[in-house]
Amino acid sequence: MKRWNDYKDFLISRYGFPVYRIGVDGGFSCPNRAPDRSGGCVYCDALGASASYARTKESGFTRRSGFESVPPQSGSACTGSDIESRIAGIKVQIERGRDFVRRRYCSDKVSLYFQAYTNTFASVEDLRRIYSESLQMGPFVELIVSTRPDCLGSEVISILRELRTNVQDLWIELGLQSGSDRILSLMNRGHSSACWLDASRRAAEAGLDVCSHVILGFPSETEQELDATIDLINRSPVKALKIHNLHITAQSRLLEDYFDGEITAASEARHLENTEYVLRRIRPDIVIERLMCETPSHRLAAPRCFPDKSLFLADLRRKMENDGAFQGDLCRKQSI
Ligand code: SF4
Repeated sequence: MKRWNDYKDFLISRYGFPVYRIGVDGGFSCPNRAPDRSGGCVYCDALGASASYARTKESGFTRRSGFESVPPQSGSACTGSDIESRIAGIKVQIERGRDFVRRRYCSDKVSLYFQAYTNTFASVEDLRRIYSESLQMGPFVELIVSTRPDCLGSEVISILRELRTNVQDLWIELGLQSGSDRILSLMNRGHSSACWLDASRRAAEAGLDVCSHVILGFPSETEQELDATIDLINRSPVKALKIHNLHITAQSRLLEDYFDGEITAASEARHLENTEYVLRRIRPDIVIERLMCETPSHRLAAPRCFPDKSLFLADLRRKMENDGAFQGDLCRKQSI
């Protein structure tokens, strides 16, 4: 019996087949970082949440690699900053990703995922070109655009709504991280919980699907603040959720506090507790896309003693079975 609303099952019931993501780096930056990419959210590792498989200069490292406080920087596949070079770089990544999915899964059912940094942080003209020319490389089942709530103005939403006709579903991944404005300020997120709720509602009203991200285990977060995150998610039109445990990574602003002994990262036992707590209280219809963070070993300062994803998921399933717990079984009814 399934304990949570699993993403893989959702894809098969929605489309009738498994769907694989092609993650691309579109050469975007982030308004929360300075032009030299300093600053930003305190947990951001300066690679802007780019996928580990997109970090081409880091391919020599393994799961057993030790931590390196200043690891080599990954090169973006979008080598030039002008729009033509960026689009050319995206097309190369799409071809590579599609070849990989064909070889590994014998499938052509793919979604296009713009993951790194803030993928709506550009002029309206550039956004229209980047997305429409990328989609011409399709067919894609979904287009998934990861961004910040303060970068989702009405013009951006209009463009995305136009593009919606090229795919079966268009998802916006909208980082929330916490429903507490105190924690958002400590994280240096640069937006409030109200800003996130407003953006998620405007996206949903335009027919876009919204997936959100939350981080569990932030230093000094109280149970009331975690409840505020849960209540906000339940009141929002969010259809999917990614849950992360806080990772302290190379080149992040949290690293110094960690080395000074000011903060710690949650153990597996703590993250199991936190995750079960959240799962039981969020709406049962929300699809769970992720339950833990994965950072390449050489970039991860803490937690170092944490199982890999399959072991963590097995431990979570066992814990929820022992507790007789299911997603949403303690959810309080809220109006959206
Ligand atoms: S919004 Fe994303 S890319 Fe920007 S600083 Fe925060 S984590 Fe990094």
